[in-house]
Amino acid sequence: MAEALDVLVVGAGLSGLIAARRLQQQGLRVRVLEARGRVGGRMVSHTLADGSMVDLGGQWGGNTHHRFAALLEELGLSRYPSHYGGEGVFCWQGRRVQTPLAERFEESLLFFEPGALGLDPEELAATQALQQSFAALVAQINPQQPWLTPNAEQLDRLSVAAWAAQHSPLPLPRLPLDWLCRVGGSGGFEPWESSILHLAWTQAVAPQAETPEAWLVRGGAGGVAQQLARELEASSQGCLQLNAPVQAIEQSSRAATVRAEGLSPLQAQVVIVAVPPPLRQAIRFDPPLPPAHQALLQRTAMGGMTKILARYSRPFWREQGLNGLGIGDLPWLELTADSAPPEGQPAVLASFVAGERALALAALPESERRTQILRDLVAYWGPAAGEPLELVEQAWNNETWSGGAFTSFPAPGSWTSSARLAAGPEGGPGPASHGRVLWAGTEASPRWPGYFEGAIEAGERAAAAAAQHCIESKQR
Ligand SMILES: Cc1cc2nc3c(=O)[nH]c(=O)nc-3n(C[C@H](O)[C@H](O)[C@H](O)COP(=O)(O)OP(=O)(O)OC[C@H]3O[C@@H](n4cnc5c(N)ncnc54)[C@H](O)[C@@H]3O)c2cc1C
Repeated sequence: MAEALDVLVVGAGLSGLIAARRLQQQGLRVRVLEARGRVGGRMVSHTLADGSMVDLGGQWGGNTHHRFAALLEELGLSRYPSHYGGEGVFCWQGRRVQTPLAERFEESLLFFEPGALGLDPEELAATQALQQSFAALVAQINPQQPWLTPNAEQLDRLSVAAWAAQHSPLPLPRLPLDWLCRVGGSGGFEPWESSILHLAWTQAVAPQAETPEAWLVRGGAGGVAQQLARELEASSQGCLQLNAPVQAIEQSSRAATVRAEGLSPLQAQVVIVAVPPPLRQAIRFDPPLPPAHQALLQRTAMGGMTKILARYSRPFWREQGLNGLGIGDLPWLELTADSAPPEGQPAVLASFVAGERALALAALPESERRTQILRDLVAYWGPAAGEPLELVEQAWNNETWSGGAFTSFPAPGSWTSSARLAAGPEGGPGPASHGRVLWAGTEASPRWPGYFEGAIEAGERAAAAAAQHCIESKQR
């Protein structure tokens, strides 16, 4: 016979683990079912040949990521500031410029002092005009209900690329928005794959200007998920079940029944689903999700993303006064960043291949991928970058239980149609709960969706709503 639980959590990523932790702290009977043979989802570390750890998924925290910082403190984990001292490298149309970073992101051209990049004055003026128009649009966004933004429908039917083309026919003005789409923290999509309303919404709720890449977790962010899992198990043995993909969630007037591969059915008062939105489609809901929610999921995709970690014997770039921040229009790597701690070991550069390029790179044979990646690393950082001790690649689109990264994005038109209808008149920005099923996962957060911070907030919100539900049902 099915075991009776208070809350069952689907997905042991950061969001699901946080939800379970908060509920367990309140004395509720909780179980977490995870599809993979490991916890952490998009928060996962990898051990390098020298025994040091790097993050294959998310790694940074930001200046306003207060929940994430507080969690590290609660867990007794430490952090260190990202290394931005010295000069970065900007590559554009065959030119390579070394220059210090701008004081404020809002006044920069992708972190750099615009005047220091040696760009054509007419193109630069057009770029700055487009950035100002975009900033004005971001300021008008309704973060909770983006469909209520002035001219929302028009803005939602226009792709980022089409909106930029309306402002300027030149290539440089498109660069900052294209970069935000592909490698900004809410990214992984091409500028023609989502609307300007969506991109502006991401910057309203998760602004690049608040420096989300300000610090890193010592020993790797993946250690956070590992420790949360250990503590859950220590409090309640068997609370965490790996290799248990959830296939169906059925609801009656008395409880929800969850069916997972290889397990007997489990019953719970409430189910928190903490998986990336497109993966909700792999679960059969009975009763089914409302049509608007299903339509939204059918129009929501995961981004294209491959992360590359190159370890060197020394942080040679620091020795040359460089900070490891490389940005530009090279064939593959749109962003490289110094990910080493202050003492410089392990000397790691993290790089990102995003959008369509991630899919194209994944289709190449391994030796060709290595050649292409090293060519871009050398273009940014010189010949020493071509000889890493170790090169690790993580193609997130190969991961069945993620489907891509960093996060999900809606097709043009979805915010003002299916997303609006799925949220209901008072709700937003995500779909409303579905009876006993509550939504968590970073994408369900109203602030910093797509980031660790959002994953924590969504987990905490779902846990609070689930606890309330359990209290009310015990009183009935
Ligand atoms: C390369 C990369 C770089 C990133 N960089 C940063 C960064 O620097 N800073 C930052 O803040 N964020 C970053 N992110 C984003 C951050 O990692 C995520 O926002 C966060 O980890 C998401 O947590 P989550 O719990 O919401 O989702 P996930 O981590 O995706 O967890 C969902 C879990 O559900 C499981 N699951 C899926 N379907 C089922 C099912 N049917 N049954 C059971 N389990 C299921 C999955 O296996 C997974 O473990 C990055 C992500 C990637 C991939």
